Amino acid sequence: MCPICFEIFGRSSVEGDSPELTLEHVIPNGLGQRLFVLTCSKCNNDVGGAKLDAALHRKVAAHAHLSGQRPLRANVLIDGARMAVDWTYTPASDSTPPHSDLRVVEKATSPAAIEQSQVTLKAAQYGQEIRIQFPISNPRFEKTAFLKVGYLIGFLRFGYEFALAPNLDIVREQIRDPSAEILPVKALVVGPTLFESVRANSLAVITNPTELAGFMALVELKGMGQFGVLLPYPLSAPGFFDRAEKHRQSNSKLEVQLRAFGV
Ligand SMILES: [Zn+2]
Repeated sequence: MCPICFEIFGRSSVEGDSPELTLEHVIPNGLGQRLFVLTCSKCNNDVGGAKLDAALHRKVAAHAHLSGQRPLRANVLIDGARMAVDWTYTPASDSTPPHSDLRVVEKATSPAAIEQSQVTLKAAQYGQEIRIQFPISNPRFEKTAFLKVGYLIGFLRFGYEFALAPNLDIVREQIRDPSAEILPVKALVVGPTLFESVRANSLAVITNPTELAGFMALVELKGMGQFGVLLPYPLSAPGFFDRAEKHRQSNSKLEVQLRAFGV
């Protein structure tokens, strides 16, 4: 049974050239620890699933860019001519202010665009517009992507006992339709921050604030640190997500006390 859509598959579903059940990375490939679950290929690869993975990839890429580790691929538009550039950002150091370098990527830019922009720049006057476009994630997709990782960590720990709990239905609904406003996803993700004494990519129990009694899944993303994802207990009182949203609105910061689960 796929833990996301609950469709039931037989033994033959993991065989053949295009199996219906496939191993899915709990944390998108290349962004952290390699943990796998079996999900159906539809949930793993369909538009929603792909968008969620892409959102986390972008988040990590943007972080690597702003900390000067890696260039970010962007577009420069000069009077309609589009050039692909690698944008390297160098943060301030003791001796130099922060600066950006843009390098045109030859294999992704047409010679005509280069030529046209040269002509435009030679004739440029004050007010000449140069526009830079770079990819950022839809914030709702990004938070929902964390929610999915957290949910799958819960599933890895407790199996179907966790997944089948009625108060997680709504979490799956949100994961399967990331653009729908089903849950207050903003209230459910914190970080990056340091959660001491709790292992990365595991579940912790929230002991305080008491109105948020539930789990926090700790998700570690490469180079960024840990994010916490709030999830209800399978038997939490109804209204967990409303309480989380209320808490977010009345507190500038979510201060939680955690206990590692099962120790
Ligand atoms: Zn599925």
